[in-house]
Amino acid sequence: MKPITVTLPGPPRTKKNRPNIFPIISAEGIRNLIEKLKRAQELEKGGHREAVRALMAEIMFSVQPSPDYKEWFDEMYLLRNDLVDQCKAAGFQIPFTEPVGIKALFYRDRLTGDFDGYTAALADMIQSDQWRCKACRKKTFRIADCPHCGAKVCFLEHCRKGLGLIQDDKQIAHWDGTRLKKDAINPRVELTISLYDDGRPVQRGLLFEESAVFIAPEPAEEIELEF
Ligand SMILES: [Zn+2]
Repeated sequence: MKPITVTLPGPPRTKKNRPNIFPIISAEGIRNLIEKLKRAQELEKGGHREAVRALMAEIMFSVQPSPDYKEWFDEMYLLRNDLVDQCKAAGFQIPFTEPVGIKALFYRDRLTGDFDGYTAALADMIQSDQWRCKACRKKTFRIADCPHCGAKVCFLEHCRKGLGLIQDDKQIAHWDGTRLKKDAINPRVELTISLYDDGRPVQRGLLFEESAVFIAPEPAEEIELEF
């Protein structure tokens, strides 16, 4: 199969630039924390250090991608229908479910961010939508009764959004030819996806379901796009 090339308009962003970090604690964590603080008090160890130690043992930190990345992602997500139409018109069945190689030319609006940041952000963005089963907590690419535990389709919750060019970033075998460039006038990402014909899987135990069901979101308004 010949490679497919698409252009994502607008300046690319990384997820690492000013990430939002905030602490989270589970209901169980809160219960544990209360118990620990009570115990510390009973043992007359209710000092500042014990309290902080108890808190840190129960708390986790959630790192959310940078607001810039979210903005870029949301803009690209709006273009998803056009992207899918364009790929279908060119005779491509997306998402790719086999191992792939990606060549991406990042034409940035300014010279910021690092290579890893851009490739990670793009890899995330081009994955398929995913749903999590609320009964068994496993994930699926299809809107249907849970393939893992058989729970009804209403148990699925949307847990990942993406452009649906490839099913999962675990398929990416290489980034050969990828470059960080700059074009302040016309920032964009030109990306070429080709089948990785090495014949070997990229990761052990990675099973792909058949093509994900594509749900077209309502088009917001007429947008002139060139891909
Ligand atoms: Zn399930």
